[in-house]
Amino acid sequence: MKLLLKYPLPLDEMPYTAEVILETGTKINIDRATRDELIVDVPEDDVDDVASLFHEKGVGVRRLQELIVWDEERCIHCGACISVCPTKVFTFDTSWKINLEEEKCVRCEVCVKACPLSALACVE
Ligand code: SF4
Ligand code: SF4
Repeated sequence: MKLLLKYPLPLDEMPYTAEVILETGTKINIDRATRDELIVDVPEDDVDDVASLFHEKGVGVRRLQELIVWDEERCIHCGACISVCPTKVFTFDTSWKINLEEEKCVRCEVCVKACPLSALACVE
């Protein structure tokens, strides 16, 4: 399960993630980081404990059920998103239609900018 974390203080001032890893013993993968926001991947079994501990520390926590929105009606299956996505979320199926493996998304938004039909958006 991916969590979007919004930190009240910049990461270099408060090591929230390191504290939560130490206190819970959970392996947390960092998908994307800015100075005050992080997307992390947490094992399903540990996500409740991890989310509440972040919350107790004053960190905003949102569970990301949906990472990228694909408007299939608009899509012309041009493949531009396949070329630019760094984590290979998009592939062609056997009939040259776009397939998504959304769980691979790190919300970099590169595909959103690359799509000529504005068929992709990141969930706010
Ligand atoms: S770039 Fe946009 S239009 Fe092209 S395949 Fe991807 S989603 Fe469809
Ligand atoms: S937001 Fe980034 S990682 Fe997610 S599908 Fe688009 S290009 Fe790939």
